[in-house]
Amino acid sequence: MTEPHELHMSSDSFREHAHAVVDWIADYLDTVESRPVLSQVEPGDIYASLPDAAPISGESMQDILGDVDRLVMPGITHWQSPNFFGFFPANISGPSLLGEFLAAGLGVQGMIWATSPACTEVETRILDWLVDMLDLPAFFRSTTDGGGVLQDTASSASLCALLAGRERATSFATNRTGVDRPLVAYTSNQAHSSIEKAMMIAGLGRENLRLVDVDDDFAMRSDTLQALINADRAAGKTPFFICATVGTTSSNAMDPVRAIGEIAQRESMWYHVDAAMSGTAALCQEFRWIQDGLEYADSYCFNPHKWMFTNFDCDCFWVRDRTALIRTMSILPEYLKNAATMSGEVFDYRDWHVPLGRRFRALKLWFVIRHYGVEGLQALVREHVEMGQRFAQWVDDDPNFERMAPAPLNLVCFRHVDGDTATQHILETVNASGAMYVTHTKLNDHYVIRMSIGQTRTRWSHVEKAWQAFQRAAQDLPASVSGRA
Ligand code: PLP
Repeated sequence: MTEPHELHMSSDSFREHAHAVVDWIADYLDTVESRPVLSQVEPGDIYASLPDAAPISGESMQDILGDVDRLVMPGITHWQSPNFFGFFPANISGPSLLGEFLAAGLGVQGMIWATSPACTEVETRILDWLVDMLDLPAFFRSTTDGGGVLQDTASSASLCALLAGRERATSFATNRTGVDRPLVAYTSNQAHSSIEKAMMIAGLGRENLRLVDVDDDFAMRSDTLQALINADRAAGKTPFFICATVGTTSSNAMDPVRAIGEIAQRESMWYHVDAAMSGTAALCQEFRWIQDGLEYADSYCFNPHKWMFTNFDCDCFWVRDRTALIRTMSILPEYLKNAATMSGEVFDYRDWHVPLGRRFRALKLWFVIRHYGVEGLQALVREHVEMGQRFAQWVDDDPNFERMAPAPLNLVCFRHVDGDTATQHILETVNASGAMYVTHTKLNDHYVIRMSIGQTRTRWSHVEKAWQAFQRAAQDLPASVSGRA
């Protein structure tokens, strides 16, 4: 009879299958370009292809891996294709995958320092490295009153910032007693929806979020921000939080971080800066203008899991005053008490975010930074920005197309001059070919194509082919769509 422990996979078997999985991933990445980028399945197809119930007896790994090809792959949209130009990238790299694999193998749950000191201290060290790599204000370093922590996503980071701002504005009483006055937050009408969601989760209500108007470049208007704050104060409300965006999701607009920061300082409000996508650009000195004024920020986040070759999930979050964050998030039940925590000499990162448990995310980031080095990462970022700038130039030079927003880095927003229907038709045509994938947004009520460049495997030839596909689709526009005779 089989003993229960014999049900586990043997080391030999694990070795064999792990090698096969690594080979599978390497082959996949080598050939991903040949697959239609967007999954072709209909809603419910994948669900229906899976058995109604879990297997009663265990199955062979050959069968399981075989079903990945047969059942799962048809439902995959290939984010790692060099022809993926949708949304923002979620790019990966060899070193990142190896770090991820190791973190899974160690199986560490690093909720407190004592449950794996390396999980905490590698993270602290890398976040300190990044302060220098990105030229962030020195007060974000762990050796000052501030510090950095890895979060799963920018949404979580912004939520933590908003909660800390709420607590600071209410002398750390809201956590105890609940909300006792109308607290108002401000962000631009182009900011990511995660700010609105944070207001919902924080119990402050989305109606207490002011979506500030933007200028012609889709950047927050600081004069409007000030006027809204004045009006709210006059109405007896408490403005407590401002979020500026460095690289908005729709159009990569850059809010005026300095002008907004001056207001935040004058008004004693928590100032969070969300650079989820574009923060990576600050690796290069010539793009650091995007964060001019960051010395006013109380908190800042960016996502290596978008553009810095670190597989999802990985968001870096810094605060100027870690005590404010920790007082907001900390709760210490008896079963977590330990000598290191009580000594006050260590960081327990569970106090820096929503979940208790945390995995060894820092390992993959450490691998990425060490593999490429700062110079390597800079070179890759520069190439993507150069591709974005070249693409913007092609759009500007083509009378069939017009650009709909500035393209400061690697996102280009444009449309066909014949209008929304023609633009949408072009987007659908290029996507339907399967050879590439691009997504849209609306700017000033116009349907706009977003060409987002930043995939690990994208080379010049892919960008050129994408542009040719847009041009072909424009030439082939049916008269019913273009409105031309
Ligand atoms: N902030 C900005 C500016 C973004 O562009 C995005 C996603 O695209 C987010 C926040 C949300 O990122 P996450 O998925 O890490 O929460």
